[in-house]
Amino acid sequence: MNGELMRKLPKVDFMLGRDRLREAAARYPYAVVKDTLNAVLTEIREKILAGGISSVPGPDDIEETVLHRLEEGSHFSLRRVINGTGVILHTNLGRAPLGGEVLDHLKEVLSGYSNLEYDLSTGRRGSRYSHVEEMLCRVTGAEAAIVVNNNAAAVFLMLNTLAKDRKTAVSRGELVEIGGSFRMPDIMGASGTELVEVGTTNRTRLSDYADAVRNRDVSVLLKVHRSNFLISGFTEETEIRELRDLALEEDCILLFDCGAAFAYPPETVGLREGITARKAIREGADVVCFSADKLFGSAQAGIIAGRKACIDRIRKNQLTRMMRIDKLSLAALETALLYCRDPKLAAEKIPALRMMASTEEECRERAERLKKRILEEAPGLDVSVTLAEDEIGGGAIPGVVLPGAAVSVGTGSLSGEEADRVLRGLRVPLVTRIKDRAVLISVRTVEDGEFDDAASACAALAARIREHRVEV
Ligand SMILES: *Cc1c(COP(=O)(O)O)cnc(C)c1O
Repeated sequence: MNGELMRKLPKVDFMLGRDRLREAAARYPYAVVKDTLNAVLTEIREKILAGGISSVPGPDDIEETVLHRLEEGSHFSLRRVINGTGVILHTNLGRAPLGGEVLDHLKEVLSGYSNLEYDLSTGRRGSRYSHVEEMLCRVTGAEAAIVVNNNAAAVFLMLNTLAKDRKTAVSRGELVEIGGSFRMPDIMGASGTELVEVGTTNRTRLSDYADAVRNRDVSVLLKVHRSNFLISGFTEETEIRELRDLALEEDCILLFDCGAAFAYPPETVGLREGITARKAIREGADVVCFSADKLFGSAQAGIIAGRKACIDRIRKNQLTRMMRIDKLSLAALETALLYCRDPKLAAEKIPALRMMASTEEECRERAERLKKRILEEAPGLDVSVTLAEDEIGGGAIPGVVLPGAAVSVGTGSLSGEEADRVLRGLRVPLVTRIKDRAVLISVRTVEDGEFDDAASACAALAARIREHRVEV
């Protein structure tokens, strides 16, 4: 039985000689066509051996499968998606969007060679950090600054350089986990510092730190921002300015992992909460670190800023070389820093900040426009504008709800999950929130330039809804 089926399976050469595969070999490398065909034939053989099929697909079907796979394999895996979730710094969707203007600069700087580590004034070797240090100092008010691969690396390097073989006090309420693989106690252990937990989960007072310094040999105080959770009720935390006096008195180093920090006070984008590195440094932190792709709105990087003596030591740490920032992120960061020369410019030019600053009225007006666009593409679709509860996201400022607006698209007889699958499967996928039998497209995180694609996605959904109605 198996042998009979095996014999019916077309031969490789026969398949490769057929018109459509010969045509495909003109578009794709011959070896890729042959490998894909072989893989498809092997799968069929395995199914025959396992007794999983009772008849062999014909040459036409096999050809179709091969062509389909070739097509799929030629798509990029990492591609643009439309973020209709209303979560601005969406970690799964690449955190901060960079915006077109930044890309113009990247193209200019990166399509050829650059002076990444070449000092144009002396003609000698330069430092990649020199391109942004002055601007970072201006934004943070620090004496010196350095930028590395991401904030996880920044925290590690800060501790490995300044707290290794020393004891570091951290509040029990600040031993955070960020995104699964970043747990403060583990990072501290790996960096070579010994963690001394102080206070309790909900309350940590200055006297708890003082006790650790005086009686438990602690010489580093570390404060960590609670970026992705809230504690409320009977709580107390110790501020940097209180810790500073203790640090000065007892000759301790005071470090602050801000996680996410704004370049300017949050009020400049209409928010009340949020840290600025400048404030932390003014209040007395020796060194602070934060992500460049959270509230800074730029590319993935970790910024470390503070006292010159500390930053110089971090610069000389061998491990810094392993976690250095690459030229793509550096070029993106420099443009963000240029915009950060002025708070108004930053809020206008940095997409994540612009999205945060967008008012409910603006969102509503834009949602009405998107609704109109959708109805042009898909008349008859059940669409309306509703209130959206947007978020900052990305482990930045937890608990802040930004009132916005969404276009709600009814999914007819399709389930919400089925509709979601359709939208995710498009050439330009549309990621949304699903609520009951409606797809919610929050406009805060969708740029005007993406409205056409979002409307086409809805048209594809409308087509699927019609098909489904016919099927059932
Ligand atoms: C986000 C965050 C980190 C990690 O930063 P990455 O840029 O994701 O590496 C570390 N600490 C805190 C407090 C954070 O919020």
